[in-house]
Amino acid sequence: MTAAPQSLATAHEALLSDRAAGIKQSAVRDVFELSLDPSLVSLAGGNPFLQLLPLEKIGEISQRIITEQGTEALQYGSGLGTVELREQILDVMAAEGITNVKVEDVVVTNGSQSAQDMACKVFCNPGDTVLCEDPTYVGALNTFEAYQVTARPVGTDENGLIPQALRDRISELRASGERIKFLYTIPNFNNPSGITLAAERRQEIVDICRAEGILILEDNPYGMLRYDGQPAPTLRSLDPENVIYMGSFSKIFAPGLRIGWAAVPTHLFRRFYLAGEAVALCPPTLNQMIISAYLNEHNWKGQIAKYNDLYRSRRDAMLEALAAHLPDGISYTRPEGGFFIWLTLPEGIDTYQLLQQGVKAGVIFIPGAAFSPSGQADNKLRLAFCSVDEATIAEGVQRLSGLLATAIEA
Ligand code: PMP
Repeated sequence: MTAAPQSLATAHEALLSDRAAGIKQSAVRDVFELSLDPSLVSLAGGNPFLQLLPLEKIGEISQRIITEQGTEALQYGSGLGTVELREQILDVMAAEGITNVKVEDVVVTNGSQSAQDMACKVFCNPGDTVLCEDPTYVGALNTFEAYQVTARPVGTDENGLIPQALRDRISELRASGERIKFLYTIPNFNNPSGITLAAERRQEIVDICRAEGILILEDNPYGMLRYDGQPAPTLRSLDPENVIYMGSFSKIFAPGLRIGWAAVPTHLFRRFYLAGEAVALCPPTLNQMIISAYLNEHNWKGQIAKYNDLYRSRRDAMLEALAAHLPDGISYTRPEGGFFIWLTLPEGIDTYQLLQQGVKAGVIFIPGAAFSPSGQADNKLRLAFCSVDEATIAEGVQRLSGLLATAIEA
């Protein structure tokens, strides 16, 4: 006899770990479902515009790998990733100006999302503290929550983390007995704010963390998607011994392949990759081989340049539409790269409620609260300009502006 489904569900609920009980469905996921409705203009999704990829070529590459190297491609592989891809990752990092890394420091991961998970697994006990920007990447906040880690925001301005705010925060948290493990930061074109950490602050941030015995997790999936301004040095290049760098092929190639990597200080490397092996045994071999062949056979830097031209026009289209249509009283960021613009509305407007009205008015976005460790972003929202064309962006911003005008008058 099997138990009645309801009572079994209740019994299973009682079996849940404390960890699982804390995991929430992210608002981003809810909105993702909505974005499949073609009648809505979606300014929500941070999906790269894959129509620009050489799909036929990728098809040929994939076919050839299966036909000629199928038994290797479909087999388990090393938990570190393939040697060929790890070597190529050094070239990708060099294109970002990071040259002080060797192949022995690189582990291939199942997207950079899993590198975040590995970092928490290696460093965090329940009740530990990590520092981050406010707002920050919702996927990282979910990981912290799953490890029962408290994410404490550090003060930022339009130039990113404020060094003095970091010092003050560390002293204040330590004075109240918190154990700080690392600073999780997205220095380039933060998701969701679009803000970049100013070049002149980077050394100071790195120095503070080194002096305080706090690791840095540098999450840099958008770094090469820069539309203007000069690249700033990565934190990893400033302090290779105290920074775990997380990179990804998701934004510069294809997120569906789920391949990212971490460049880890030599003395931590073994612990780090063993944490990954315990989750997935190894990153997918076929996908790594597809990426290797793509990097060898396609002008991938030229491809990134094409993406940058496209995304620059889309960003400009969004900034122009915002300048032309938004009602007074709303501020927004002007990102030099990446996918996102962050809007701050007058206090009292709840963007989660606004989203429900947006669905009726035919435009969707992500409400700010999802990204905020302090819970103080109810009047903020994220717009993405990467995956829709200029005309659709203009239409979406007009619809949103209409909604906002009504909300502000109310
Ligand atoms: N970090 C940031 C800041 C992101 O925006 C994303 C994806 N949106 C990720 C990590 C996860 O990337 P991946 O696909 O490599 O897991």
